Amino acid sequence: MGTGSTLGLIQHKLASARSVTVLTGAGISADSGVPTFRGTGGLWRNFRAEDLATPEAFTRDPRLVWEWYNWRRELIATKRPNPAHEAVAQMEQRFERFWLITQNVDGLHRDAGSRKLSEIHGNIWMVRCTQCRHVTENRDVPIAILPLCSGCNGLLRPHIVWFGESLAEDDLETSATALQSSDLCLIIGTSGLVYPAASFGSIAKQAGAFVVEINLDATAQSGIVDAALQGRAKDIVPLLLQA
Ligand code: NAD
Ligand code: ZN
Repeated sequence: MGTGSTLGLIQHKLASARSVTVLTGAGISADSGVPTFRGTGGLWRNFRAEDLATPEAFTRDPRLVWEWYNWRRELIATKRPNPAHEAVAQMEQRFERFWLITQNVDGLHRDAGSRKLSEIHGNIWMVRCTQCRHVTENRDVPIAILPLCSGCNGLLRPHIVWFGESLAEDDLETSATALQSSDLCLIIGTSGLVYPAASFGSIAKQAGAFVVEINLDATAQSGIVDAALQGRAKDIVPLLLQA
């Protein structure tokens, strides 16, 4: 963890902030037991996530990709939000303007009560038809392989933004608006390696926000932030609200 004075400064900034934007990544859910992609436990049958979470992998072998998602569904289904998710959910009530941007697909922010959020990489409990594009919720664990659309019998895929795919236009717009209008931006548990989310900290900073990073380690974006606290999200994030 950083020095006590850094924590005090961030608590003070938060206490007077009116518009807050939070960006979260896999690190906030690591404390709930969901492995990050780059940490230990991110491998499945020796495949890296980057080799499975792509449109090419799904075209080549949809069965393999769905088997991987079944493994992830099974894992995530047993996980609960931790104190960091809960503190972020409380921030929604605390500030005049608030928006949460998450790269996580596990749905734990919703489970914790967050409603003002963009799940910019999608949600593992949603599926999309590759033919008619219809999106539906599906919480089956395991999901039947191969899953088919009840409307048109097309092949269903996870409603997740894969490596090499673009984010939804409206999510990008909502995120940009939130970042540009915030006076404080918290970046929690993200490596800062996956774009465009990796650029969100600098967008907020250029717009004049005080940018804070909370991460177990230093990251690619640590150099540009105004304050950084190193440690576990579940220990640090709840402290931020104690002014
Ligand atoms: P990442 O795996 O690249 O990085 C995780 C970051 O969290 C690292 O910087 C690490 O130092 C930090 N971290 C680990 N444990 C922490 C803790 N307890 N407290 C605070 N920080 C901690 O993840 P990313 O940057 O979010 O991006 C990778 C991509 O992987 C994203 O696109 C995301 O959609 C996807 N992903 C999602 C989940 C999920 O939904 N839970 C899990 C793995 C990967
Ligand atoms: Zn369909």
